[in-house]
Amino acid sequence: MSTNSTGVKHVVVVGAGMIGLTTAWYLQERGVKVTVVDRTGVAAGSSWGNAGWLTPALTLPLGEPSVMRSAPKTMLSASSPVYIPLSPDPKLIRFLMGFGWHSLPRQWRKSIGIFAKVNPLAMDPFHELAAHGVNEPVHEAKPFLAGFLNDKDREGLLHEFAVVKESGGTVDYDLATGDELRAIEPTLSNAVASGVLLRGQYFIDPPKYAKSLADSVVSRGGELISGFNVADIKDTGNGVEVIPASGFTGGTGHIKADAVVIATGAWLGKLARKFGVKTIVQAGRGYSFSVKPDVIPSHPIYFPTQRLACTPLGDRLRIGGMMEFRDVDAAPDERRIKTLVDAARPVFQGVDFDARQEEWVGGRPVTADGHALIGATKSSRVFVGGGHGMWGIALGPLTGKLLAGAIVGEPDPVLKNFNPLR
Ligand SMILES: Cc1cc2nc3c(=O)[nH]c(=O)nc-3n(C[C@H](O)[C@H](O)[C@H](O)COP(=O)(O)OP(=O)(O)OC[C@H]3O[C@@H](n4cnc5c(N)ncnc54)[C@H](O)[C@@H]3O)c2cc1C
Repeated sequence: MSTNSTGVKHVVVVGAGMIGLTTAWYLQERGVKVTVVDRTGVAAGSSWGNAGWLTPALTLPLGEPSVMRSAPKTMLSASSPVYIPLSPDPKLIRFLMGFGWHSLPRQWRKSIGIFAKVNPLAMDPFHELAAHGVNEPVHEAKPFLAGFLNDKDREGLLHEFAVVKESGGTVDYDLATGDELRAIEPTLSNAVASGVLLRGQYFIDPPKYAKSLADSVVSRGGELISGFNVADIKDTGNGVEVIPASGFTGGTGHIKADAVVIATGAWLGKLARKFGVKTIVQAGRGYSFSVKPDVIPSHPIYFPTQRLACTPLGDRLRIGGMMEFRDVDAAPDERRIKTLVDAARPVFQGVDFDARQEEWVGGRPVTADGHALIGATKSSRVFVGGGHGMWGIALGPLTGKLLAGAIVGEPDPVLKNFNPLR
């Protein structure tokens, strides 16, 4: 356990997703008492139904030139993997303009350079968590598979890998034929003609991992309060006050502490805006479901063209994808699950898609520039951790570690890339 030189003894963490829980855990490493509150409970947001990939080779900005090339078509088609419903919402329009700008080739390359700095740091914190009480395993994908209907489709992914290497990142991969992929995963159909085998990639079972993290925080003396919907946060001059929405019956009432962390995922702007966080955190909603193939895969499988992320979760396969820029709290759109199923059917065999379970929607917390918000706000007692878009699981523990360091007065220089007041 390291020291804490700032006098911060008690921190309230708002949000029990991957970011909130890992921040709480690393604060405990620094000797800080933590109270984690969530309006629902552990992994009630995006940290539940995601793909659980810890894949440095693929941890890249969402906004990239090919997304923008297809944007006009996707805005109009509800069956497209990236869907932007036409809306007069000025906040959404502002976000999309920023997103478009950051997807231009020059910005995209710059952004990849930032990911290349943090990706190599992302796995060590998982090992630290494992060594000190987070029991849910991290699996190495041996190897991680990417599948394509033809060699031409594969070029896009290989181009991304080339840019990653140019930017100082590393990617260790081999090309494979469809038959070679089927020899590894017989549940892939004959339509899969081409592939990539990636090494040095990992995956977790997201709901189990979040529960294991929460259990570890509690077993180390942390308090975890579910059903605590934070309505407001006040900097009182010598501490903070975290105020629940009316109707909270948990008995705790207002919580006073030395500092607070806002880790509320796609809802981050609601509480953080008044502390000077102007960057829009837009929900990029994704969907997932699970199936039980005749032969359950043991490797994660990515279909970049179809934008399908498939992850083995023990007795079933989770299939997820979609990027829907709309209100985080909007009702799930049934058409999106159908689109996922239609994309998945041709690339698998021996899967009864009609028997699917665990249909889920969740909002990725997306920023226009593709980078997270990590650090202090204009109040030195109010911190934010969030906005990781597609990569809050892979980068979650690193974020928790960096943020805990900043809170106790030891900010890492890499945090300048993630300034919440930018
Ligand atoms: C389909 C899909 C696949 C994905 N796959 C991957 C992947 O393979 N790898 C990867 O790294 N990332 C992946 N992601 C992204 C990842 O899920 C997110 O980046 C990450 O979960 C964000 O974590 P978070 O803690 O910031 O937010 P969340 O997990 O959303 O947690 C926010 C929490 O805050 C709580 N909350 C909100 N408002 C309040 C309030 N006012 N008071 C109290 N509590 C509040 C919510 O209840 C919620 O529990 C995927 C996402 C999707 C949708």
